[in-house]
Amino acid sequence: METDCIFCKIVKGEIPSTFLYENDNLVVFRDINPHAPVHLLIVPKRHIRSVNDLTEDDAKIVSEMIMTAKMMAEKESVSKSGYKLLFNVEKGGGQVIFHLHLHLIGGWKK
Ligand code: AMP
Ligand code: ZN
Repeated sequence: METDCIFCKIVKGEIPSTFLYENDNLVVFRDINPHAPVHLLIVPKRHIRSVNDLTEDDAKIVSEMIMTAKMMAEKESVSKSGYKLLFNVEKGGGQVIFHLHLHLIGGWKK
């Protein structure tokens, strides 16, 4: 846990949030500033700064994040209509919270 990390604090319950899904390794909650009708964040419980910091040992959590995104897309009824999965990587890539997270974005009107 990084003491100044917002997502570590959310994971620990130190900042209030509603988890749509949680297991031993990750949590899912709604983005506070949604860019689409459905905008979820899939966040590993363990602090990893960004995609740049992933190692071979992290392959399991990355794959779990993507499989969870797929499952949440079903739950949020955007599977069929389609959605985006997005990792912003470091400042130039638009990352503002330096705790790994996967955006699930969708639900636009046709
Ligand atoms: P990124 O630009 O990829 O680092 O995305 C960080 C995302 O976290 C942004 O879309 C923010 O709106 C979102 N965010 C920041 N603080 C919170 C919070 N307390 N709860 C939910 N989402 C948040
Ligand atoms: Zn963190």
